[in-house]
Parts: sequence; structure tokens; C-alpha cells
Amino acid sequence: MERIPVAGPSITQREIDYVTDAVTRCWYSEHNHYHAKFEAEAKSYFGRKYAVALPSCTSALHLSLAALGIGPGDEVIVPDLTWIASAAPVSYVGARPVFADVDPHNWCISAETLQACMTKATRAVIVVDLYGNMPDMQPILEVARQHEIAVIEDAAEAIGSEYNGHMAGSFGISSCISFHGSKTLTTGEGGMLLTDNDAFHAKVQHLRDHGREPGDTNFFNTAVGFKYKMSSMQAALGLAQMERAPELIEMKRQIFRWYQERLSGIPGLTLNPEPAGVRNSYWMVTAIFDEQYRLRKHKIKEALTARGIDTRPFFHPLSSLPAYRDTFPGRRGQLHNEHAYNISPNGINLPSGYNLTESHVDHVCHELKSLLGLNRQRMAA
Ligand SMILES: *Cc1c(COP(=O)(O)O)cnc(C)c1O
Repeated sequence: MERIPVAGPSITQREIDYVTDAVTRCWYSEHNHYHAKFEAEAKSYFGRKYAVALPSCTSALHLSLAALGIGPGDEVIVPDLTWIASAAPVSYVGARPVFADVDPHNWCISAETLQACMTKATRAVIVVDLYGNMPDMQPILEVARQHEIAVIEDAAEAIGSEYNGHMAGSFGISSCISFHGSKTLTTGEGGMLLTDNDAFHAKVQHLRDHGREPGDTNFFNTAVGFKYKMSSMQAALGLAQMERAPELIEMKRQIFRWYQERLSGIPGLTLNPEPAGVRNSYWMVTAIFDEQYRLRKHKIKEALTARGIDTRPFFHPLSSLPAYRDTFPGRRGQLHNEHAYNISPNGINLPSGYNLTESHVDHVCHELKSLLGLNRQRMAA
């Protein structure tokens, strides 16, 4: 049997046709053809006034912080459990990341954990929709409003998820999306910034093009900015993927149901939650194991790798990583972020790529169950 990868895209003739058209035709006066269509499609899908196609979600987060004028002396609150790309841009602008604990029910930041990290220096919170799960947004937005701090939504992992009828990607002054090859929709590498705010959008457009005013043809720079753009070929790929979004989200949800049917009866095993009011697009099917199994994520990963199944460990708490050694002298994060430190060692992402079939899921679940069974016998012995 071939290896089962953990993630990967769905590419059809539509993607191939659009990209071929872009590389063939979209130069000279047509150079913006696919950017315009891709951004228009995204605006309507996410229900936002502006969409800006970018080289990555990381650059979208960086631009968001820069456009808000966040810098040295400022603090930005980020959940402790996320990919480092959520937090790294805070350092790019010279501000300090402060890592908040997560809600054990959805693995995301909550109003309470946000509140606990608030200081006089707090300027913004980056709310992350982890693995497709949605945080309880309403009270988070309320706390942010009371303290007059900006909300940036990192929706990299949640294209197609919804909270109370609102799309992931529609919350806060800025929502940031990823189109990396492993994500729900892909442009190979790519990202997008979504906003409804006119002034903020103008600032982003200025900063992303080396400090040129939008429409400038005199190559006249009014600030030192960044160069954050996407190629026509990527925008063409993105348009094809956006047009297929409903179909692709349904495939993700089908993959989750296959797992759910096979794993839901197992005591002490929890999959991505979908509480009332939430629609989860299940970017990655994720399983958390109770302490009783004494099965740490690296053990499961090792055993499944040996059986031809690729997985990923649940993100490590950022406050535990060598990258943030200097931000957290004395492992301060570990003392405070109880839920993050309890969940992370016992969580694993299961294969969730678009090439997955039901018989692949059968195989993965069979191997996983035998792993759990073996382990329990050993504990009983
Ligand atoms: C993938 C990811 C990013 C970064 O996306 P890039 O397009 O690779 O820059 C940011 N945040 C989260 C939560 C992610 O999963």
C-alpha cells in the first residue's frame, strides 16, 4: 500500500485551464485579469468589502500589524497553541507576543484567557481558528471592544467554517487566510488579507507595494514598505479553487464523517468539536487522547509512520519552544497555560488530504485502534 500523506490539494482540469490561460495570455494590459477575479470571488465568499491577494498568510498578518502601527513597546496576544506563523509577525514589527491559554472545548483562545493576558501595553489580539475549529467569537470581540484593542483573525486553517452564520475570515479589522499547499484551498504558496475598513485597506495597499500610493505610475515612494504580491498564475489557481470552495469544504466534511463513524465510540478520544452555532470545515482531522492511554503524540506518530501513515503532532505550545526562550525566561508560559500544556502532548493530526478515500480512512482507523488496544493491554498487565 502507498504511503498515506497527511495533507494535499485537489487539482482538476479547471485549475489547469485557468493557470494555462494566465501564463499564456495574462501579461501586458491583461496582467491583472486573474487578481481582479480572484479577489472579487473572495470578497463575495467571505462577505468582506476588500480582499488583497498576498504571497502568504504570514505576510497578511505582518501587514495587518504594520498597518495598525503596532511596534516596539506594544504587546499582542496570541493563543499558545497555534502554528508559529500566527506569532512570528509580532516580532517582525518589534512588538512582544503574549501567549494566552486556550479553551479546552475548542482548543482556541477564549474571552477569559484573553482577559487574563491584558496589560496597559496590549494593542491587539490575533484570534486563531485552529484546525477548522471556531473560537467563541462573540465574547472575545466584546472584551476587545471594552479594552479598545484590535482583533486580527488568523483564519488560515478555517476557510469555510462558520460561527453563528458568519464565515471564518469575516471577524475583526483584518482576517488573514493561507493558500499554502496543505491548506483547504491552495495557490501553491499564497495568502489573503480581508477587511471592511477603508482607511486600513488603503494603508495595507500602500505598505504592500514599497510605499507607493495605489495607482502610482511615477515610481514615487512615500514610505519604506514591503513587497507582498502574488503572481497571475497563482491568482488563476486561486480563482479555480475559490469557485470550487463549496465542493471542497463538503469533501473535508465527508473525510471527517468517515473518521467520526469509526472513532466516535472510543472512550477518551476526542475529535474536532462542532458546537451549536458552529460549522467546522475540518481542515485537519485531529484526535486528542485522554491521559489514561499514556500515548504521547510522538509515540503515535512514530508507530503510524512505521505503518505507512503520515501524521502531524498537535502544535507545541509556542511558549515552550526554543524560538521563544528569551520571551519566556523561567518557562513562565508553562505555569499559566494549563489547558495548552495538557492538550498539546496528547493530540495528533490524522491524514486529511483531498486524495484520501474511505478505504484509506478504514486503514488509518484500524491501525490507530490496534495501537490503542495494545497499549491498554499493556497497562492492564
Ligand atoms: C498555515 C498557517 C499560517 C501561515 O500561512 P502561510 O501561508 O504559510 O504563511 C498562519 N497561521 C496558521 C494558523 C496556519 O496554520
